[in-house]
Amino acid sequence: MGSIADVRARLAAARQEGAAAVPRVALVPTMGALHDGHLALVERAREIADIVVVSIFVNPLQFGAGEDLDRYPRTLDADLTRLAEAGVPFVFAPTAREMYPEGSPGTRVTAGAVGSLYEGAARPGHFDGMLTVVAKLFNIVGPDVAVFGQKDAQQVFLVQRMVADLDLPLRIDVAPIVREESGLALSSRNRYLDEAQRAAAHALSAALAAAASVARGGDATAGQALAAARDAIEAAPMVKLDYLVVVHPHTFLPVGDDYRGPARMLVAALVGTTRLIDNTALDLDTGRTSTR
Ligand code: AMP
Repeated sequence: MGSIADVRARLAAARQEGAAAVPRVALVPTMGALHDGHLALVERAREIADIVVVSIFVNPLQFGAGEDLDRYPRTLDADLTRLAEAGVPFVFAPTAREMYPEGSPGTRVTAGAVGSLYEGAARPGHFDGMLTVVAKLFNIVGPDVAVFGQKDAQQVFLVQRMVADLDLPLRIDVAPIVREESGLALSSRNRYLDEAQRAAAHALSAALAAAASVARGGDATAGQALAAARDAIEAAPMVKLDYLVVVHPHTFLPVGDDYRGPARMLVAALVGTTRLIDNTALDLDTGRTSTR
């Protein structure tokens, strides 16, 4: 299905198909190059809904000049095979022309101040472009629930806020981060890494694990967790740190070094020319941690 009219017509038919109760629709938005992290979102969607729709769209609006839009991995045939094997009948894979017939859309969603921090500071306009396409996908598919990965924590925060701010009639479900055995979070961009870089990239999850372990001691501040994570990053010379920050989960703003309480640690780094991100929850108050 590549056209908006097509996805709407097929979903309308499926919604009505002889059901006394209206089936629940879950949307899983992706940019393709599917890996087990994406498939975990599909599984989650299947648990909580009757109809699962996966969208595959490498959204030009969320890539800046000089970013990897042109070389972003596109593996549509393999993706469709994986989704068919996973039993997903609804795949919406539009062209850029289908989504943006006029080229660049005149109307956009803006992500506000938090949209300019962290990933937004490194990638100006990225979150406006992301929210704009997510709003369009919500309007095209009309899901009851949309499943996002915790891997992109700032994205999750901004999408949840957009849904609240604009009273969009759906719920956001957040699935935990899927990692390799080494700890490296699965990402479509991992395929850019050579063997040495892949080994070095392990430093991101190792840094988060070090912070989590300090927090588990039960009496750590944000500053202490940051120091532990920074040491782990500095031990990997191939990893060029962009940001390492502890944010408040409700505001997504940085907390002070003395802060104790619920928090999330975010990290971004360049390994070679590949930009990688990761995050973990830290409960600096009670020492409870989670890898979600
Ligand atoms: P992307 O194709 O990179 O735009 O990702 C599509 C969705 O998959 C987003 O909600 C991501 O957060 C999610 N995702 C990507 N990698 C992972 C992962 N390792 N674990 C869980 N979710 C992921």
